[in-house]
Amino acid sequence: MSTGSAPDELRAMHWPVENPKFIFFTDFDGTITLQDSNDFMTDNIGFGGEKRRQGNKDVLDGKDTFRDSFRKMMDSVTKPYPECIDYLVENIKLDPYFNEYLQWALKNDIPTVIVSSGMHPIIKAIMKNLVGEDAEKIDIISNEVEARPGKSIDQEGGWQIKYHDDSGFGHDKSLSIRPYANLPADKRPTLFYAGDGVSDLSAASETDLLFAKKGHDLIQYCVKQNTPFTVFSDWSDILKKVKEIVAGKTSVHDAAREGYEAYQKGEAGLNGKAK
Ligand SMILES: [Mg+2]
Repeated sequence: MSTGSAPDELRAMHWPVENPKFIFFTDFDGTITLQDSNDFMTDNIGFGGEKRRQGNKDVLDGKDTFRDSFRKMMDSVTKPYPECIDYLVENIKLDPYFNEYLQWALKNDIPTVIVSSGMHPIIKAIMKNLVGEDAEKIDIISNEVEARPGKSIDQEGGWQIKYHDDSGFGHDKSLSIRPYANLPADKRPTLFYAGDGVSDLSAASETDLLFAKKGHDLIQYCVKQNTPFTVFSDWSDILKKVKEIVAGKTSVHDAAREGYEAYQKGEAGLNGKAK
């Protein structure tokens, strides 16, 4: 167990269980939760939904990076950080089936790792509120928050987002998953991933099966880049499919092919507006 300053890149290989056969990586905002907490802050106590949607469009059109666009969103929120946390804890709701999934995963020795573009203290507070004590058994790899020069995060305009790495995503989620993907075949668990947005795309190529949320941006990116995926509406879909795979009733390959077939039949919710 790592207690020093070096990050433990393979934490889920020995926590909360030893050498798991499966690991579930997941996005946080809009995937575990019903609303995107960063969008919620931006729309309600930042520069508003119109500017945010234009920013998203600029990223989709390749006119801005996710990193810079997301920083602009966060910079527009000037409330002291503890107030932001309280505001989100009061307002953000959980996918109605996530807790059922989590209880099953814990019982079946499948670690859950949140891989997020959000900030660690916010994710931790929201999860503690929505999941309770078992939130402690979920690893979180995310961006952080830091004080602006000469200020404290408790002050108005006192905080800013601190990115995980130097990538155009701010947090290149593939970097967090790759140490697991590169394990030797006899050690490497089957890797699942669930997400809904553009920042999840880099993660998808590292894992064995991507669950992409129906009607959201990620599906359009997957189709554009020929990344296999399976569609989910809520975590009951994910739980059902993961149970089948763990029981050996279906393979990750077959599940990914089904996603493409669903898309071809128009069942992937592609007409939903880009988020
Ligand atoms: Mg998301």
